[in-house]
Amino acid sequence: MRKIGALEAGGTKMVLAVYLEDGTELERLTLPTETPEETVPPMIAFFRRHQVDALGIGSFGPLQLDPAAPDYGSITSTPKLKWKDYPLLKRLLDGMDIPAKIDTDVNAAVLAEVELGAARGCRNAVYVTIGTGVGGGVYAEGKLLHGLVHPELGHMLLRPHPEDPNPRGVCPYHEGCMEGLAAGPAIGARVQGDARDLPDDHPTFAIEAYYLAQMCVNLILTLSPQKIVLGGGVLGRECLLPMVRRETLRLLGGYVQHPAILQDMDNYIVAPELFPVSGLVGSFLLGKQALMEADGQ
Ligand code: ZN
Repeated sequence: MRKIGALEAGGTKMVLAVYLEDGTELERLTLPTETPEETVPPMIAFFRRHQVDALGIGSFGPLQLDPAAPDYGSITSTPKLKWKDYPLLKRLLDGMDIPAKIDTDVNAAVLAEVELGAARGCRNAVYVTIGTGVGGGVYAEGKLLHGLVHPELGHMLLRPHPEDPNPRGVCPYHEGCMEGLAAGPAIGARVQGDARDLPDDHPTFAIEAYYLAQMCVNLILTLSPQKIVLGGGVLGRECLLPMVRRETLRLLGGYVQHPAILQDMDNYIVAPELFPVSGLVGSFLLGKQALMEADGQ
């Protein structure tokens, strides 16, 4: 059976794995993300040692995802300066003539959740991770959505909560965007400390739920997903998901009259099933897609 290499490329760590085509995992390797000069050679060595037949990558971005572009597969304007304009896909292939596919880490994650996880069977779904940043992947009409560049759900603009002591948020690019208001660092700035030490009924979690619900409302109204999957470290606070469901219903005001929303919210905004390996499994699925497309299927 052929082998598929998978890489989930993150800002703090790289997770690599080799799978058989049927999804059996053979080996996994985690490396800290340093500079490309330090981090990429051991990744190339890992995939070469296994003689992989295809490669799938889910990476932090922004990324060039237009296969017709000369810099396809490059990391573009990232704030991680050592990786800016880095041709990740090209370097990893290192002259190996094998089929490969790259996408955002969150698009890889939504693909995994659609094929094997919490959004199984959906033709339209969104995956959002809320941790040190906020990122979202979109699966629309049976395909990963790229559009002009690729979705950047984490920076959608929201209206401030009236009791938010820091309503501008902490994003260096935008006033009042999702990531700047609701990612881990935003919560930390709001409570001036570590929110993990706070009780569930602390007002900051009502503010957090309000922002997450605004995002869900915007996603429902623009993309009409059949499922919204919310993951990431911030959602480790288990009281949040039920609060987000209630707040989403309240903010929608009964406008979207579908039973999935009106009667079955517990199964509409859900936790990922594959966390914390959604992105890695999605990268494997991207590599598998690349292999099947090369086979002419
Ligand atoms: Zn922003």
